[in-house]
Amino acid sequence: MTLMAPSPVSPVVERLAALLRDALAPERVLTDPAQLRTYECDGLANFRVSPGVVVLAESRQDVVDTVRLCSQQGVPYVARGSGTGLSGGALPVADGVLIVLTRLRQIIDIDPANARAVVEPGVINLWVTRDAAPYDLAYAPDPSSQQVCSIGGNVAENAGGAHCLKYGFTVNHVLGAEVVLSDGSVVHLGGSAPEHPGYDLLGAFVGSEGTLGVATQLTLRLIRVPEAVQTMLVGFRSVADAGGAVSDIIAAGVLPAAIEMMDALAIEAAEAATRCGYPVGAVAVLVIELDGPQVEVAAQFAQVEQLCLARDAFETRIAADAAERALMWKGRKSAFAAVGRISPAYFVQDGVIPRSQLPQILSEITRMADEVGLRVANVFHAGDGNLHPLVLFDDAVAGQAEHAEELAGAILDLCIASGGSITGEHGVGQEKKAKMAKQFTAADLDTMQLLRCAFDPAGLANPGKIFPTPRMCGERPGPRTGVHAVQAAGLGEVF
Ligand SMILES: Cc1cc2nc3c(=O)[nH]c(=O)nc-3n(C[C@H](O)[C@H](O)[C@H](O)COP(=O)(O)OP(=O)(O)OC[C@H]3O[C@@H](n4cnc5c(N)ncnc54)[C@H](O)[C@@H]3O)c2cc1C
Repeated sequence: MTLMAPSPVSPVVERLAALLRDALAPERVLTDPAQLRTYECDGLANFRVSPGVVVLAESRQDVVDTVRLCSQQGVPYVARGSGTGLSGGALPVADGVLIVLTRLRQIIDIDPANARAVVEPGVINLWVTRDAAPYDLAYAPDPSSQQVCSIGGNVAENAGGAHCLKYGFTVNHVLGAEVVLSDGSVVHLGGSAPEHPGYDLLGAFVGSEGTLGVATQLTLRLIRVPEAVQTMLVGFRSVADAGGAVSDIIAAGVLPAAIEMMDALAIEAAEAATRCGYPVGAVAVLVIELDGPQVEVAAQFAQVEQLCLARDAFETRIAADAAERALMWKGRKSAFAAVGRISPAYFVQDGVIPRSQLPQILSEITRMADEVGLRVANVFHAGDGNLHPLVLFDDAVAGQAEHAEELAGAILDLCIASGGSITGEHGVGQEKKAKMAKQFTAADLDTMQLLRCAFDPAGLANPGKIFPTPRMCGERPGPRTGVHAVQAAGLGEVF
């Protein structure tokens, strides 16, 4: 666990807290250390920082007032949704303000004629589909955390989910965003029309992890609920066969709504937690879902089953009803937490590889884990090549947590070497910023910084995330000579 040193609250932050109490209702401004501790981490609990002040925003105006005061006082701030992020994106800044958006939870409009929803950022992902369902509409991005994570957090992380193989990530389902910039001004990116002239600033905002501004309202695209949905559970005796089946299905031109894969350890954990009835003796299972017109789904299901059998699947089971389908998904969606049944502690990793390399990469991960005497359970969005290796360890054993962290990092290096990415959906946040310099050149990173600086010249919005080190706005990319004043002051280093 990395505990960032708690520092006494500075006079600047004390003054800011007083100004915030004047501007907002005092009970929405928290400074009591016991209350602040609730917010010291997100879903990646091995990084913890107590914020200087927490603001429980209840309106756009609360966000505007808070950000404007932060800007005037030069105090950094971090937006926080439900705090389920797995990369430390919502990790507070000590001596900074944490703006909690969970009270902005109104679904403002469901527009069935145009298949749109307008929501506040604290709205829970699953609520959108719940409210759209009476119109036969749904919100497609479905992270496994969808019962608790917020739309604002989804947009900031460009969240994915099982059904993103067919429907795309959050970025494909956001049409517009109202955003509070770091000087307190409010801008509108995108809109409700499907296409906009000018730069695609909305595209830049989605996935920017709170570094470009705070979203206070979002316009979402809804999809029509498909006529038929069928789910199949397939058992394999080898990971290579299951991986091969995934490639075969996509190569045959079938685009399932989802293809999820779990290996033996993940199956063991899911079984222990949910009694999901996965095929006994399976070394790997695939959960395959097809949706669309009834006739198309039926024909493609037969084709998918044949392709799996050709890869020596020993059991194919089609969900007979909604209850069986839900149980198949329960095993998959609860897999992260279920791993707690078979290991005292674990790291959730998130990386991407080319889908065609699944078997080789998985066996390399097993080899690397064996070498350091650790176990890795694999649960992943196989169709996207988006791995979620769960590195298991016992924190009571001296040194194991460090070995596990090193192994998790080495797996990301493997993803980069294979032509993949250090994150598929969980973001970079605090956790993976050091890896950015491995995936991108200095010129790539400089260009990203130019964009960041255009939105947030003072670098107050979620500083210290995504990028290996902060670079001053206005500093021109290009060959560097000498030592920058920021380096000299020990505040940053060249990446
Ligand atoms: C069990 C479990 C399963 C998960 N499964 C998935 C999965 O399948 N797919 C997936 O993609 N993720 C998954 N996640 C990760 C997490 O749920 C997502 O990243 C989610 O999008 C985070 O939403 P949140 O509301 O919790 O955001 P937070 O954790 O509160 O914040 C995440 C980031 O968004 C920023 N942010 C939050 N709100 C705003 C806003 N209004 N404006 C600007 N920036 C903002 C924060 O500063 C931070 O950088 C899972 C997490 C858990 C615990």
